[in-house]
Amino acid sequence: MLELPAPSLSSCSGHANLSLRSQILFDEDGDPDPDNIWSALFGWHARRVHECGHWVRYHGTTIGLALTTLRDARDRTAQSVFAELDAADKRHLSDLRRGGRGIFRFGNHDDDPSTLGEDIALWAQIWLDLYYTYHFLLDAEPLHNLGWGVGDAVNGGLADAWLHLTMKNGPGLPYPGNDAARSCIVDEPTASAFRGCPITTRCLLECASSLDELRVLSHSIVRDNAPDLQRMAVMALAGTDYGLPVRAALETNHPPSMNTVLALIDFALNPPIPGISFGEGRMAWAELYPPQRFELALLFRDPQFDISPDPTSDELLHYRRSLEVQTGLRYGVVAHPLSSSHSLSAVLDDLDQGRCGVRGVLLYIASTMLAYRDNDPGLISHFGAVFQGDEAVRMLDYHEWNDVLLPFVEDRGGKFSYAAHLDERSALAFASQVAGAAATDDVVNGVGPLTLDHLPRDFGQRFGDQLAYEISQRFGVEVSAAL
Ligand SMILES: [Zn+2]
Repeated sequence: MLELPAPSLSSCSGHANLSLRSQILFDEDGDPDPDNIWSALFGWHARRVHECGHWVRYHGTTIGLALTTLRDARDRTAQSVFAELDAADKRHLSDLRRGGRGIFRFGNHDDDPSTLGEDIALWAQIWLDLYYTYHFLLDAEPLHNLGWGVGDAVNGGLADAWLHLTMKNGPGLPYPGNDAARSCIVDEPTASAFRGCPITTRCLLECASSLDELRVLSHSIVRDNAPDLQRMAVMALAGTDYGLPVRAALETNHPPSMNTVLALIDFALNPPIPGISFGEGRMAWAELYPPQRFELALLFRDPQFDISPDPTSDELLHYRRSLEVQTGLRYGVVAHPLSSSHSLSAVLDDLDQGRCGVRGVLLYIASTMLAYRDNDPGLISHFGAVFQGDEAVRMLDYHEWNDVLLPFVEDRGGKFSYAAHLDERSALAFASQVAGAAATDDVVNGVGPLTLDHLPRDFGQRFGDQLAYEISQRFGVEVSAAL
């Protein structure tokens, strides 16, 4: 049982999650005109492109890698705390939770040492830092009252994520020491907004996926047969949060083309990451935080230059370098190998045999995706184009690419099934561990029954009950599951 990002990325049809569900193909509803077969077909296809775009950009960018490591460190922290508690302590924490007090909670911390004990109170702070940093980087929602500085939380969270990557049973990256790791960000983290609406990393991911979707729906076959679909995609960009980055771009003196916006978003989503990109170093929050990278790229880009309609790898790599010069911000590189596995089936076999956790699978996927980002950047940055023209034919030859792109599970018309290229045992091992990771948050931070809405519906109550039983055994905290 390990990591995987739990929070959802809602799509226009209300269906997407950035975790397990972003690997699921939905085809059951959301058709603007169910009597029009073209509309149904293209609507489904566009949603698939949109959701796959999330998966590709999450695992094929440095900010996604940072989020994966933050999530992993958070789950490992919770698990290791409970692994070392005796039965009496577990009973005490379980009683707290049953009485309505979250074990690790935001808000008032004054009574943590006396209620939890000094040691657990310290672990609670570490877990809360990791949780807070993850959500600040992804959402920047007005989160929670921390009780300590945001800068301290973010630096602490990044350093702990880094530390977990250095552990013996992980990738074993070199660790530069506490002091360097805990003071990477030199200024106070702040959020970004456009006309009072927050532009977040999640928003950049949604915008890029919506542009992918629009590209697919702009094809003449779709325009001729299902014109409503394109209109809906344009309306989503014009009137919802998904379009905030595009609308900010259109208000500049020389508005960039949509292909250029995609290149700017790619630049934004790939900051250098402390601990992953370089051994020691200090950086400004604006260099790390994707929304501020996007704003600066928009401000300082050469307004006379636009990305061509079908950009080559050389053109995209050159544009990336020119943005580095114009903004003074670096494009993140990953300085360490992330996985020694050579195929998805090998890493899933390791998962099945208990030789790695979900983290091992995700780092394998990230290492493969990040190689594409460096060698064939359009596959990540202009993902929608992959489904058109010559590019679509190219996809057929990409066995390795298909390995990391195709979903682990499929949900067709409400029926859960395993992806055709996986055996049932591997798929279930992966799904169970993802579910267990999401449940960890509920155990330590929640007070009610386990949340199961991130799971395919056909997992059913029986799966939920089994999960609740395993969680109760592992943590010594009694929980139930509710569908
Ligand atoms: Zn989405």
